[in-house]
Amino acid sequence: MAALFEHGLFAHVVVLITLFLFSPGFCVSPSSTRPNILIVFADDLGYGDLSCYGHPTSESPNIDKLAAEGLLFTQFYSANSVCSPSRAALLTARLPPRTGVWPDVLRPSSTGGLPHSETTIAALLKPLGYTTGMVGKWHLGVGKNQTYLPSNHGFDSYYGIPYSTDMCPCLKCFYPADPCWDTCDTRFTSCPIFQNSTIVEQPADYTTIAQKYSMEGRNFIARNAKSGKPFFLYYATQHTHFPNFAGKQFRNSTRRGAFGDSLAELDWEVGQLLEELKLQNLEKNTFVFFTSDNGPSLFYQVRGGMAGLLKCGKGTTYEGGQRVPAIAYWPGKIQPGRTRELASTLDLLPTIVNLVNGTLPEVTLDGYDIRSILFQRSKSPREVFYYFYSQMSPKYGVYAIRYKQFKAHFYTQGYILSGLFNHDGDCRPTAARTEQNPPLLFNLDEDPSEAYNLGNDPEYTDVLNEIGEIKQQFEAGLVWRESEINKPKDPSVEPCCNPGCHPFPTCCSCTKFGT
Ligand code: MG
Repeated sequence: MAALFEHGLFAHVVVLITLFLFSPGFCVSPSSTRPNILIVFADDLGYGDLSCYGHPTSESPNIDKLAAEGLLFTQFYSANSVCSPSRAALLTARLPPRTGVWPDVLRPSSTGGLPHSETTIAALLKPLGYTTGMVGKWHLGVGKNQTYLPSNHGFDSYYGIPYSTDMCPCLKCFYPADPCWDTCDTRFTSCPIFQNSTIVEQPADYTTIAQKYSMEGRNFIARNAKSGKPFFLYYATQHTHFPNFAGKQFRNSTRRGAFGDSLAELDWEVGQLLEELKLQNLEKNTFVFFTSDNGPSLFYQVRGGMAGLLKCGKGTTYEGGQRVPAIAYWPGKIQPGRTRELASTLDLLPTIVNLVNGTLPEVTLDGYDIRSILFQRSKSPREVFYYFYSQMSPKYGVYAIRYKQFKAHFYTQGYILSGLFNHDGDCRPTAARTEQNPPLLFNLDEDPSEAYNLGNDPEYTDVLNEIGEIKQQFEAGLVWRESEINKPKDPSVEPCCNPGCHPFPTCCSCTKFGT
């Protein structure tokens, strides 16, 4: 030490250490250590649609890679069996009765939307220094003056079609000019693509949607990588919702027909996002979660997806309506594997907020922090899941409740999107609402297909009583918010690139925006 002093080296060392400690590289601010968050939300993708979930001919190599290197959930639930209520719940961790996004879905002419008083994941992350972006299908309202679009719900940027691609008169679905299988909904204006609150393309070209979305997603990731700010990207692809569509690269590319081609394009979108993360060296600092908003639309038969071994599909409270594929991916942080623990889209908000040391909103949340499943591979804090029918109402309340491995149905009802001609009559729209007393009871660990009712077996009376008490307590504390979807429709709020034009709605076509 004396020698150091003698040669003035000590002073040099002190200066060097000081410079190092306060250099930008070392003195890491809390925000820059926060992970990036990427949620990829598929549309109407069923439990049985992916090859990593057992489909024999689907081609989804990128999602399969995600599953092989990430954590695959076998008992993961979307919060509802149709788009809008499910999406509201994903972003707010609140069941549809609480958000007001019930029953059924928002239309282009809907005057309601996700209430501004609801707090989204984006709104919670933004004050923590996150850049928040949304690409794709919003489906939580447009409304007058675009008041419900993502920029009014905590997102810094938005690019996409704000609802489903069948809510517009679809014409061309496959490259170069193959028509769509159906005409979709001709009552509304053609599908618009918004950039923030401006329409940049109308009608949207379905054969290039996936390309544009993935490019937007990649650019968003690249921009944030350069800025060094953490980001939250909510990427909600239009695939695999009806109508099936795909660009040049994927038309007739699979053995699974038009649905398979759409799925292959969805898989490609996932691959594009992962490639950008890798390119930007962000893979190890990004929590990726892939899942679907609801079960398959069996009305469209082979063009509508599959629920695998699960009963019924979209619109119902059977397992096929709400149990969906889900994969968590974070190299180095989440060990590859498979979990049978119970979890839901409702759990993403509390998990993400805790992951980034944020603060939960001061409202009743229906989600749990599932970091125990992700990082310790231990038990889920979730023991209960509530199923609300797509056409829900306060009069009938919760249709079914899962408690641990048991599921009790208090009401059952089929739905048109589970198939007019479904081989299982319980799924068809002709299966009217039926009060089940005693409730139907299934042990989902032993009987995931809900085939063998235990509700009449005295051995299970205690289980039914226990679930009955859970129902009573839950419903006693549940406040139904006024329905946003039942608010009056108004064609003047339909997105139109040529406002006030005639004849409406066909005049809402601005080829100059087309690409
Ligand atoms: Mg959907």
